[in-house]
Amino acid sequence: MQRAAISGETQICGVIGHPVRHTASPMMHNTGYEKLGLNYRYMAFDVAPDQLGAAMAGIRALGIVGLNVTIPHKEAVIPYLDELDGSAKRVQAVNTIVNRNGRLIGYNTDGAGFIDAFQAETTRTLQGKSVILIGAGGAAKGIAWALIDAGIAALTILNRSLEKAQDLQRQIQSQLANAQEVPITIFPLNQCPDALITAADILINTTPIGMGDTQGQSPFSRWELITAHHLCCDIIYKPVMTAFLQAAQEKGAQILGGAGMLAGQGRLSFEKFTGHHIDYATFRNVL
Ligand code: NAP
Repeated sequence: MQRAAISGETQICGVIGHPVRHTASPMMHNTGYEKLGLNYRYMAFDVAPDQLGAAMAGIRALGIVGLNVTIPHKEAVIPYLDELDGSAKRVQAVNTIVNRNGRLIGYNTDGAGFIDAFQAETTRTLQGKSVILIGAGGAAKGIAWALIDAGIAALTILNRSLEKAQDLQRQIQSQLANAQEVPITIFPLNQCPDALITAADILINTTPIGMGDTQGQSPFSRWELITAHHLCCDIIYKPVMTAFLQAAQEKGAQILGGAGMLAGQGRLSFEKFTGHHIDYATFRNVL
């Protein structure tokens, strides 16, 4: 479909972060608008932390209809919102803000975006599976909840600081409904018992180890225990092939990179901003 011309009716969406120059979100969302013929445009806004309050007032004043939120604002933005959806409340972090007639509602589509990619790009299911989550930060929280919602049987969290893994374990266990009971065990990074690794179906790296200064490094080193039975996922999307994924592939494991989650969380935000469905492949192909 043809791109709608900018007019007095054009709706504005965007992403706030600091820095935000390298974001792929404008490409994904603008491609979606063009495909569906929607009169929307999506921009990247670099908002320094001391300007966050002014930026949030600006959303209301200018009638910006939807915003994605990235590092470092995902938690800091919460006091400026009128309401948190259940997805953001559980994780206490927001990656999507919808402006409904001046009322700002925060969502978190990161966890659901991971599930979206998992379903689109792997042949596996999550129901009844045993999962090892490496990391206990913001992304790990969203993914942990989404995995539980998807019906996994057991979750092991490995993290550098055991306290943070413990916080996540406690937080989930205190909010789980009886019907959702899932055993959650925690260990310091690289102290996971062999038997748990062998029995696990899925490993997910949610730490930044493997990107930037740590490119070429992996947060996991027990590769002698990994076989074709395992699915190893990394949520890092740059580089596409991390050392974690490379080592997993060499052991015959199936792999899933982070670009899919990026596409999935973006696609789900798009639907909240516009009320229109956009297929996973449209966003994924941009990346
Ligand atoms: P975060 O909240 O800062 O959490 C980082 C986690 O990694 C913590 O568990 C931290 O452990 C651990 N970690 C950091 N550096 C480490 C190191 N040198 N050694 C061992 N552990 C280390 O960050 P986040 O927001 O969850 O983001 C994490 C990663 O996910 C980033 O690479 C980000 O780009 C990526 N991400 C991707 C997507 C996507 O759509 N694909 C979406 C969101 C995030 P401690 O608790 O011990 O500090």
